[in-house]
Amino acid sequence: MQLIDGKTLSKKVQNFVHAEVEILKTEKNIVPGLAVVIVGDDPASHAYVSMKEKACKAVGFYSITHKMPNTISQDEIIEIIIMMNNNPHIHGILVQLPLPKHIDTNKILEVIDPKKDVDGFHAYNVGRMVTNLDSFVSCTPLGVMKMFEEYDISLEGKDIVVVGASNIVGKPMASLLINANATVTVAHIYTKDLARHTREADIVIVGVGVPHLIQADMIKEGAVVIDIGINRLDDGSLVGDVDFDAVRPKCSYITPVPGGAGPMTIAMLLENTLKSAKQFGERS
Ligand code: NAD
Repeated sequence: MQLIDGKTLSKKVQNFVHAEVEILKTEKNIVPGLAVVIVGDDPASHAYVSMKEKACKAVGFYSITHKMPNTISQDEIIEIIIMMNNNPHIHGILVQLPLPKHIDTNKILEVIDPKKDVDGFHAYNVGRMVTNLDSFVSCTPLGVMKMFEEYDISLEGKDIVVVGASNIVGKPMASLLINANATVTVAHIYTKDLARHTREADIVIVGVGVPHLIQADMIKEGAVVIDIGINRLDDGSLVGDVDFDAVRPKCSYITPVPGGAGPMTIAMLLENTLKSAKQFGERS
């Protein structure tokens, strides 16, 4: 069994991005800029945003965070996004999800300029990704693909089960895997017999938000297991969706939580913002 070390790989990506930022600054006088919009006071969302701010600072990005109260109207959020769309120092715009219930998330995401949509949530980028055209790809599935590449885990012809079918994790993950010539099954809350699917899979990727959903008897010997879930238990500890200690001995590769898919998500956000800044440089 080999542990997939997302923390070390994310550091490697960060170092690469940092070096590229220096080149971009020197050669084109461009500093990649990221704007983050966060609404409300959810502690987990604020923790993620502060990790993103820290990572931006570490690689030399310019970053601004718009912190807004729960009571803000949809139109006011849209106004801020339009301002960021028009700000030449901003190359990436990220709206931290989830948004409060009175806000139409799809409407907000659609306002982001697709050229600055570094989270890859805009329908324009989703469509391009599905059709295998160059696009901004949702950071979490992109990070998982980067881990496969780094650990030389081939996908072609593999039977892969993606558990979770959200717009930001499961669906883009499945599309990327199909584009990599894997045979993909997507399971979700309505799937009748989850274990029947996962037991057959060469690779299982889980992102649902249910601690210990995946047990050892649901995994075949030698499978690769990628755990995207992040769950905070009552005792304050952080666990994924996989019963790590029980599943680990059966795997050829497995990601830990924390230290697997999580850090890779932030690393991919940096890569996407760098890509956007470079594209702006080419257009100007
Ligand atoms: P979501 O609630 O939008 O979607 C959850 C998905 O899981 C749905 O498709 C649902 O049908 C499915 N599901 C729920 N319970 C299930 C069950 N018992 N069996 C099978 N399928 C089930 O959540 P999301 O935003 O996609 O996030 C999923 C998990 O991934 C969460 O734990 C979240 O914290 C984590 N996440 C991690 C990162 C990261 O950076 N590592 C990024 C995004 C989300």
